[in-house]
Amino acid sequence: MNEVDVVVIGAGIHGAGVAQAAAAAGYSVLVIEKNDIGTGTSSKSSKLIHGGLRYLESYQFSLVRKSLKERAVLCRIAPELVKLQPFYIPVYKNTTRRSLHIRTGLILYALLGGLHKNNLFKRIRRNKTGKTDGLKQADLQHVYRYFDGQTNDQKLTEAVMRSAQQLGSQLVCRAIIHAMTKTESGYSITYTEENKECTVKAKVVVNASGPWVNEVHNLLLAPVNSLDIDLVQGTHIIIDVPAPSGIYYLEAQDQRAVFVMPYEFNGEKKTMVGTTEKLFLGKADDVKATDEEVDYLLNIYKTYFIPDTKQTTVKVIQQFAGLRVLPKDDGSMFSRPRDTILHWAIPGFLSLYGGKLTAYRSTSELVVQKIKPLLGKRQRIADTKQLYLSKE
Ligand SMILES: Cc1cc2nc3c(=O)[nH]c(=O)nc-3n(C[C@H](O)[C@H](O)[C@H](O)COP(=O)(O)OP(=O)(O)OC[C@H]3O[C@@H](n4cnc5c(N)ncnc54)[C@H](O)[C@@H]3O)c2cc1C
Repeated sequence: MNEVDVVVIGAGIHGAGVAQAAAAAGYSVLVIEKNDIGTGTSSKSSKLIHGGLRYLESYQFSLVRKSLKERAVLCRIAPELVKLQPFYIPVYKNTTRRSLHIRTGLILYALLGGLHKNNLFKRIRRNKTGKTDGLKQADLQHVYRYFDGQTNDQKLTEAVMRSAQQLGSQLVCRAIIHAMTKTESGYSITYTEENKECTVKAKVVVNASGPWVNEVHNLLLAPVNSLDIDLVQGTHIIIDVPAPSGIYYLEAQDQRAVFVMPYEFNGEKKTMVGTTEKLFLGKADDVKATDEEVDYLLNIYKTYFIPDTKQTTVKVIQQFAGLRVLPKDDGSMFSRPRDTILHWAIPGFLSLYGGKLTAYRSTSELVVQKIKPLLGKRQRIADTKQLYLSKE
């Protein structure tokens, strides 16, 4: 029987990050994934490595500061995977968020980012905007430009998992967990891998199963304290339009922020538009983009851009949906905290709720700090802040 310090459930960005951080701290780790690496939410995000300018509107200053710090770390340790891109915010005569509002936000963003040169912004006058990717010019007053990061979320997740494995973590994919029982020294988990039934003993279990977090609790043969959550669906579409020269940060009719960004699709540079925010009431496995969401995103694109003259219709070539895990609340989805909640579902069984791709590394280090007292101290073998993450 396999015996490890930590079993991690789920090989999304958080599962990969926790495996890497725990292995770096000297612990033995097994990751159990029911599909493949990064096939859940961690391949359905907006792919931004950012502080989140829009989170300033809901006063999530510490999340923004922490995420900007992590952005700087990722730009340094994963330069092949995380690239700074220009972000453009156009201000029209009828834009609800007025220029002063945006300017104040960008000043605060730069301050929270430590006034590093990568956090400085510029206001570009209408007739000086240069390449505009077909952005409508009528009533355009000016454009703000700042910089934030973009990645390939699934490739980033794979890179973090590779790094965890290099540090000694084990990984099983396409594995079905049947039951988890509490024992005197921790947990015993039975699962099937390639039709073979296996059992692993772990001192601690970290449940990093993203939107499946509470479903995984049902596999525990013990009473569990699950948090009340909402699953909020977010859809993106890829359209058959050449990639823009940067990321456009647009205001939808309902005042939500929507991004139009470059996206590599089958080796070609195309345009991605997203995202939506829609309460999801089904089972996490069944999430899929709806026609209503696709129309909503297409309309935003058409409101702001004049497609190439050769193109009469804008064709959607792919669509995908992911689920955010947000604390249950009656208030607007937008204003709910986006930070990760670390919750002991039962002693020795730590569940991760929500969070951001950008902050995966610092979140994972926090998880290790939390489980350390149950595991004892080990000889650290690496520092996740210094481990290079390569594309292949
Ligand atoms: C629409 C949208 C856009 C977003 N955009 C951004 C962004 O631009 N920037 C940013 O920083 N953050 C963004 N986020 C947040 C970010 O994507 C998520 O926080 C992150 O990907 C969650 O990763 P995770 O590892 O917790 O979950 P997941 O990636 O969902 O991983 C969970 C894994 O657990 C596995 N699993 C589930 N059940 C079991 C089981 N029983 N046994 C074994 N394995 C199991 C699943 O197969 C899956 O692989 C966005 C989120 C959404 C929904």
